[in-house]
Amino acid sequence: MVNKKIKELAAAYKSEFIANRRHLHANPELSFQEFKTSAFVEGQLRSLGISQIEKKAGTGLLAIIQGRNPSQKVIALRGDMDALPIVEQNNVSYKSTHTGVMHACGHDVHTASLLGAAKILNEIKDQFEGTIKLIFQPGEELIPGGASLMIKDKVLENPRPSGIIGQHVMPLIPVGKVGFRKGMYMASADELYITVKGKGGHGAMPESLVDPVLIASHMIVALQQVVSRNASPKIPSVLSFGRVEALGATNIIPNEVKIQGTFRTLNEEWRSKAHHHMVSIAKGIVEGMGGELDFEVRRGYPFLKNAEALTSRAQEAAVQYLGKENVIDLDVWMAAEDFSYYTQEIDGCFYRLGTRNEAKGIVSGVHTPTFDIDEDAMEIGAGLMAWIAVNELGS
Ligand SMILES: [Zn+2]
Ligand SMILES: [Zn+2]
Repeated sequence: MVNKKIKELAAAYKSEFIANRRHLHANPELSFQEFKTSAFVEGQLRSLGISQIEKKAGTGLLAIIQGRNPSQKVIALRGDMDALPIVEQNNVSYKSTHTGVMHACGHDVHTASLLGAAKILNEIKDQFEGTIKLIFQPGEELIPGGASLMIKDKVLENPRPSGIIGQHVMPLIPVGKVGFRKGMYMASADELYITVKGKGGHGAMPESLVDPVLIASHMIVALQQVVSRNASPKIPSVLSFGRVEALGATNIIPNEVKIQGTFRTLNEEWRSKAHHHMVSIAKGIVEGMGGELDFEVRRGYPFLKNAEALTSRAQEAAVQYLGKENVIDLDVWMAAEDFSYYTQEIDGCFYRLGTRNEAKGIVSGVHTPTFDIDEDAMEIGAGLMAWIAVNELGS
């Protein structure tokens, strides 16, 4: 019965959800600079009559909706608010008005959906048990990640939620469908900054030099053994170098080579071991060949694990809400997400909202200048999240 009520409300308010999304899309702000976004969200929440709102981690917000017996059970719902430094190339009425800043990862969709869920949940708060914490976080796209700062600012305490639910747009999934995965889902992502120092000079006289280009070449090849030999075949791992800078010339060997890469995996213990392996292999090769090494591992977000039981219940709730044919199983995804910080603290479920529509030409990936969504997704984005929360709390 509550399920039906939520569906009715989501359909009735759909145009409002879309209007909110368009407002946010037209007014994007970069990570940790979400001042207007935060003020807009707070204004919307207050207009709904939600008054328990606290500012967190600078531009973040924590809002509370209490149902019957508020201390019974607590569940958290999360939306992220930041945009990316990309020049939007879509010609739409809600195109970004801030040149060079764009909601190209759908965080406008997540924020507007969470506002929509808040509207629905606040309206039916006499029909569920417990408390809902709405977490509007800043800075998902930038290390150290807004989620880590929200946790430091105690959003998961007093009261502590038994679980947290987050959603993310997925342009590979057709609109109308959602995707779930229990257990390992997304990767940790660490940035690697390496400098190999040698002794440059004339390319015709290598015997008097220490060639950092050759050393770096050996090192790049050797480091792949971390993935192919040191990693367990049961743990997904990837090591990629996307930038190699040797500023010599045909006849000039440079003094140093700078290299940047990314290491991703899905196991925290192995992640730390891999860092150690990488540095020691690189050191062995570089020093053995007479060079010097500077190897910085900049730790990014941890890997994301969806709690089995919570995710099963959320997926079952989605089947009830959308029908079995519209709920798909996801594969491991090697991108990273700072939602993982919450899942290191409490049970979490991070699911995907389908936004693709080939007939309308809506196919671009996230983080591209032509990313957009089929806005029919907004009705599900808000309604399903509200239903998963109520299903979790009990009505
Ligand atoms: Zn992103
Ligand atoms: Zn994102």
